[in-house]
Amino acid sequence: MEINEYQRLAMRTINSDISEKDMLLNSLMGLSGESGEAIEIMKKHLFHGKELDRDHLIKELGDVAWYLAEAATALGIPLEEIFSRNVEKLAARYPDGFSRERAINRAEGDI
Ligand SMILES: [Mg+2]
Repeated sequence: MEINEYQRLAMRTINSDISEKDMLLNSLMGLSGESGEAIEIMKKHLFHGKELDRDHLIKELGDVAWYLAEAATALGIPLEEIFSRNVEKLAARYPDGFSRERAINRAEGDI
């Protein structure tokens, strides 16, 4: 599945009765909440003696993807733009792959 096709299919369930500002707020809150659900699965695995529930983790990561798509939609951009800009940023930060040195000493304005 192509990234923008995912956005189109996922946004079939967006609440279009809210403003773009509220849509953006909802997406950022949702990203935080769903990330919390994902880390909860890892917490239970690491500290509660449970098997890592990979299926549940994959579902929560899907929820993260949904809210990321909503954020892109609220910003009026294709979801692919978030991915491509991230790849560009990482290529500039780590031209030869990950480097501890470059991770510690980032260029001015590299966020
Ligand atoms: Mg969830």
